[in-house]
Amino acid sequence: MALRLALVYGLPDSQETETREKDAARFGNNRSSVLSLVSAFNFCDSNFRMLIAVASIILAKLADKMALIYFKPDKFLSTAAFMCNYIYKVIANCYYIYDEKVSRTNYWNIISTCSETFEIGIGLYTTASLFAHSCEANAYRFCVGNKIVLLSSVDIESGEEVCIDYGIKYVDTCRSDRIFYLKHTFGFICKCKACENDWENMSHALICPKCDGALILTENTHSNYCLTCNAKDVDIIRSASYIQRSIESANNAKFYFRIGHYRKALKYFEKLLYQNSQGYYYGRFDLDLILKIARCATKTGEMEKAGEMYLKSLLLHKVMFGEESLEFINRLFEFNEFLNGYERHSDDETIDCKANYENAILLLKNTINREVLSATESRLKFLKRIRPNAPFAIANIFKSINE
Ligand SMILES: [Zn+2]
Ligand SMILES: [Zn+2]
Repeated sequence: MALRLALVYGLPDSQETETREKDAARFGNNRSSVLSLVSAFNFCDSNFRMLIAVASIILAKLADKMALIYFKPDKFLSTAAFMCNYIYKVIANCYYIYDEKVSRTNYWNIISTCSETFEIGIGLYTTASLFAHSCEANAYRFCVGNKIVLLSSVDIESGEEVCIDYGIKYVDTCRSDRIFYLKHTFGFICKCKACENDWENMSHALICPKCDGALILTENTHSNYCLTCNAKDVDIIRSASYIQRSIESANNAKFYFRIGHYRKALKYFEKLLYQNSQGYYYGRFDLDLILKIARCATKTGEMEKAGEMYLKSLLLHKVMFGEESLEFINRLFEFNEFLNGYERHSDDETIDCKANYENAILLLKNTINREVLSATESRLKFLKRIRPNAPFAIANIFKSINE
């Protein structure tokens, strides 16, 4: 790719600008774009630099064999030097091209991206490669063939910078792991909103043994620190032992759930919730687990417990993902299905499932209309359920959405 870049911008011109002052005017905007790209030179170790040096010499030799350079010792060296420079720029700025399955679903024209993808190449893009990283990006990218497509993921104000993430996000990763990864992979200190304001991700935090606060575990440096009492590298044996035991409960719960023994599954899921709450800082708010308990309790006929858990799951999804999110809307439909079943078996006249359902549909419509929506297939699965299982005559609402 470095060689190709040099060919695109003209080999003799590239050679000359590397040896004389950086003559941006000679190359027009494209050349200055290449010059403005960050280089990976500073964060590659000496062994890797050695490999790049060898590769650069091979590329220069190749250019020579292809009669692209008029061979003189100093020309050869300068060709190898800018090849080297370009390789570092390519490493720091290229995108992996994924063999992604992108399609419009039959459901409200949402774009679906298949999560099972594999890399088929790398590419340097004159525009897309210039997008900066943010740990809380407002756009994301996917591949259609060898083209990069960017979609906004939130409303973007006029004049606001459009940022993507370079493989690390605030919602998944603690602050120190983000800093470490970006520094060592791309060579920069992140100045995004999340990093500048010290936003910490606490979803995997343990309970601090010293103060019961949130203890952050870092993956890259294998250390820990407490956000409340500032303790560092504390002994996590107590939390770890609960987590160790919780693995056993999780396996039992999954096994009994799979074979349809819901009463036993429910017992183990509840045990797991307790164990998580003793180890993880937010363990008692485990979203998946609360939902599984609700489903098991529905199966075993413990409707009050199920209702309580569905409601808890619903509220947590609202807090975590926001009201206009596919996650929350999915739970809203599921909760309503539960209420519908409950209504049929009880005399409770306060539940108006039809109104709830219509509200959920309207919320879905608003969410989709707000912007072009794209999501992985797994997040869209619930949409397939809505229409055939709709317990009410809501054909008109569907009609208005599809128009
Ligand atoms: Zn950041
Ligand atoms: Zn602490």
